Amino acid sequence: MTDLLPVGFEDTPKNSPILIAGPCSAETEEQVLSTARELSSYGVKLFRAGIWKPRTKPGGFEGVGSEGLQWLRKVKDETGMKVATEVANKHHVEEALDAGIDLIWIGARTSANPFAMQEIADTLAERNSDVHVLVKNPVNPDLELWIGAIQRLYNAGIRHLGAIHRGFSTYGKHLYRNLPQWHIPIELRRRLPQLPIICDPSHIGGRRELVAPISQQAYDMGFDGLIIESHCDPDCAWSDKAQQITPEVLNFVVNSLVTRDQHYTTENLTLLRQQIDQVDNELLEILNKRMRVCREIGQYKKEHGMTVLQTGRYDDIMQSRVKLATEMGMSADFMRTVLSSIHEESVRQQLEIFNRR
Ligand code: PEP
Ligand code: MN
Repeated sequence: MTDLLPVGFEDTPKNSPILIAGPCSAETEEQVLSTARELSSYGVKLFRAGIWKPRTKPGGFEGVGSEGLQWLRKVKDETGMKVATEVANKHHVEEALDAGIDLIWIGARTSANPFAMQEIADTLAERNSDVHVLVKNPVNPDLELWIGAIQRLYNAGIRHLGAIHRGFSTYGKHLYRNLPQWHIPIELRRRLPQLPIICDPSHIGGRRELVAPISQQAYDMGFDGLIIESHCDPDCAWSDKAQQITPEVLNFVVNSLVTRDQHYTTENLTLLRQQIDQVDNELLEILNKRMRVCREIGQYKKEHGMTVLQTGRYDDIMQSRVKLATEMGMSADFMRTVLSSIHEESVRQQLEIFNRR
């Protein structure tokens, strides 16, 4: 994929980050136009709005459909911004191209589906279109599936190609709506160094206050741009209201970000070090989670008059983990040291619970 062209259009100065902004969904003509006018007044050049919305469960707002294409047309004519929307099948692609949409993105539920991806790629090939296409990561953390989706488009002749990192679905409660798992887009960069990667802090964070810190992290890691959900009246948005910010806040956030001059390097060592940083963060999070569970066990033992130390259990843990570690290629000694340190800290934390009145 060495002949990829930049995504971002002539209006985006060379090397400056791409910014795509607009509401999660087009709701009404007034909402689309007033959001667009405000964004345009702040200098935004690429406007997004979903008109076909893939919803996890039936019953949610599924988008206004084709009617919204006319509103995007108006945005284009009135403000001069380029317009972007999500497509998920052949009909969407055809209608979007007919309506003069400049950039299409493939959503996370669609990029996870090779049949849908092939259908979209074939339709684009038939139309011989030079539309810009961005592929969101699949909902599940599967880099090969993400690359496969991108390859299908590339094989169909699409050259204005990019990827969007929107985080990965997970079960249970977390700080993020979709876990960033930064090492995955970093590995994508290593595998396809020519491919622009844009970060979607809105869908990663799921909350307004996380848009700025996640955007900064993305800049720090050398992402090529951001796609941020912005709505003229976020509290009344018909979808994803918790994560949408007003154009004014968006302008503030974007202007507060520190951009790094040094562009993303393809040097393997830098990328690998970033992966190490990420993995260490994950390791800390996992350790923290383990300690939390240990404290809960401590509470249970206290309430049931049990002792903190249950040596049988410790021996079982040691044996099974050391066996697993050696199967993975780590030394038994190393694993014993790690486990005994973890155990020591777990006991310390449980004792704290015991000593609490
Ligand atoms: C969106 O961008 O509004 C969207 C539906 O995103 P995702 O596919 O990342 O969930
Ligand atoms: Mn959304």
